[in-house]
Amino acid sequence: MDFHVTPEFDAKKNIVGYFAIRQDITAKMDLKELNNTLENSKQHFKELSSIDPLTGIYNRRSFFEISEKLIKLSQRNKTPLTLMMFDIDFFKKVNDTYGHIIGDDILIYITKMIKERLRESDIFSRYGGEEFIVLLSDTDLKNALKIAEEIRFIFSNNVYSDGKVSIPITVSIGVGEYKNELLMREFIQRVDGALYKAKENGRNRVESD
Ligand code: GH3
Ligand code: MG
Ligand code: MG
Repeated sequence: MDFHVTPEFDAKKNIVGYFAIRQDITAKMDLKELNNTLENSKQHFKELSSIDPLTGIYNRRSFFEISEKLIKLSQRNKTPLTLMMFDIDFFKKVNDTYGHIIGDDILIYITKMIKERLRESDIFSRYGGEEFIVLLSDTDLKNALKIAEEIRFIFSNNVYSDGKVSIPITVSIGVGEYKNELLMREFIQRVDGALYKAKENGRNRVESD
């Protein structure tokens, strides 16, 4: 708010009153602030569009963006790169039995459990509904298989519980090492084959291609 006061004089130059103007300058200030707000919003929405709202990890879109860069980096540095694909076993049955709210809560539980076993540098993403994917830099197949087996073991030895119901949850995992595929998509397809094998061979298993 801007406030101007001007004295009023009579013919003998005596002050007989005051003339006041109050001007609302909120609009002027807002223009500057609006620009800042817009910049913040843009940043905020950019972050939102790369994050899965339920689990808080990367979504599929940002996974592709980041992983293409990591492929180039591993080629340049000649370091191994591995991929793990997770799919929850019989998740449809869990939803059908306990409902989608608990199903969603289990997806959060799965995320937390996997995240605890990963490094900061691993790119962890929700690939689809109940499918998760992890890209591990500087990790060869042998080490990735070890990590995948540890994660599988953790799930099969724990139960999800919300205090009212306890539900055993297992995951099947496909693992593969990068072999000069031109596109991330082709690499994923190969590892998806390993995941399919894990399902075929009885679930609650880790398989590599
Ligand atoms: P499989 O062991 O072969 O993987 O069996 P499945 O039942 O897990 O596999 P399927 O692909 O048939 O079912 C996946 C189910 O995942 C279907 C759907 O009910 C559930 N699902 C996918 N996305 C979400 C989600 O965001 N929330 C919840 N609650 N459920 C989801
Ligand atoms: Mg699935
Ligand atoms: Mg499944």
